[in-house]
Amino acid sequence: MWNKPFEKLRSRMTCLYAAIFGILILAIVAAAYTFIWWEILAHEKENLVAQIYHEGEEWVESAEPPCSEAAIRSGKMLAYFVNPDGTRVILNQLGKGEAGQELLQHQHDWPKELNSSRLLRMHGVNGERYRYLAAVAPVIDGDKQLGRLYMFKNMEFYYQAAYKTLFLLLCMALVLYFAACYFGYWLAGRNIRPLSNMYARQQQFTADASHEMRTPLAVMKLAVQGLQEDEDSRLSDFAKESIKMLAGESDRLSRLTENLMTLARSDEDNLPAYTAQVDMTALCQKVAAQMTLLAAEKKLQLKQEIQENLLLQGDEMALSRLLIILLDNAMKYSPQQTTITLRAAKVKTHLVLEVRDEGCGISDEDKQKIFDRFFRVDKARSRSQGGLGLGLSLALAIVRQHGGSIKVFDNMPQGTVMYVKLPLEAK
Ligand code: ADP
Repeated sequence: MWNKPFEKLRSRMTCLYAAIFGILILAIVAAAYTFIWWEILAHEKENLVAQIYHEGEEWVESAEPPCSEAAIRSGKMLAYFVNPDGTRVILNQLGKGEAGQELLQHQHDWPKELNSSRLLRMHGVNGERYRYLAAVAPVIDGDKQLGRLYMFKNMEFYYQAAYKTLFLLLCMALVLYFAACYFGYWLAGRNIRPLSNMYARQQQFTADASHEMRTPLAVMKLAVQGLQEDEDSRLSDFAKESIKMLAGESDRLSRLTENLMTLARSDEDNLPAYTAQVDMTALCQKVAAQMTLLAAEKKLQLKQEIQENLLLQGDEMALSRLLIILLDNAMKYSPQQTTITLRAAKVKTHLVLEVRDEGCGISDEDKQKIFDRFFRVDKARSRSQGGLGLGLSLALAIVRQHGGSIKVFDNMPQGTVMYVKLPLEAK
């Protein structure tokens, strides 16, 4: 089983391959069809002009009319013979059938230059289609031109054959397309597998390393705490200051390992199936109450706009962490005497959580990056505020685990809006 991002990448690559294969196959079919049809038409045009010369010779020799009775009756081949300037009709084989009548009505479309040909497409009164190849050539007796002989060849048979060929080509293309899609899926898998394995190993390493660091860190924290609480010790001011710093840094390190471990686990597999129902109204109120004290310390006001009866299927601990991350960020990056608003509301089938602040805001360029691990817009500022650059990555992981989405917008006139959308029913 692969990591989810790689499954998605594989599907995306397969779609891309499928689209490229599809376009290529269609282009090949179109080119093949056009080429075959072009060749047939060129060959038939040449043949028809040659046939006019042949029929003209027979007319001169024996006054034998060009087309057989059967060909005229079925409309397969028709002829029309006029004197050189076209003012007098010498022979007309078009008068008998409906196709002939149509041809006569389209006389203005006939080829005008001698030894030329043209494809005529016509519609009968009852909607029938007629497709004739028309050609004209002179009938010569010695040095004298007797007239112009037009011949019309019914191309219906060729059209039907071309349609059948096209249908066959498309069927073959469809089979080829599915085979190519399967091949694309296999190829994408083959290309991605080494990456996915490497990624999984790296995730495993991060999770294991964070896990292994927990115990020594806990021991260190306890030792530092012991030193701080030891009233009998006669430590210098410098040593006391160093121990205080050690306490702060070990605290930071243990938060970092906890976060890394959570993130590494969140990458591992599919969405967990949540069955527990979380009272989001109560949870938002509880977290907001906890954060109100911190906000007051920083001279910030925390406003609540929380709807009643908001129920969601999910992980209460994780959702509480999500709220803390967003509110904590809003407080970290807001100046004193400003307001932070936590809004929670039901919108159709989703729960919307919104944390709005009037702080420094985030540039459009940084909006794309803030969910990346260890990304901080202002490293010094974030660090001084106790930031690790992992808060929003964790928030994103929690939101994704719940099948939702998180977006960041500008607050007007100033500040940031973190907008989370979670489906009320777990998928
Ligand atoms: P950190 O622990 O540094 O806050 P986060 O992942 O939570 O890490 O946030 C990443 C960066 O996004 C922060 O360093 C900060 O620059 C920016 N950021 C997050 N939330 C806000 C906010 N509400 N207002 C302004 N900048 C923010």
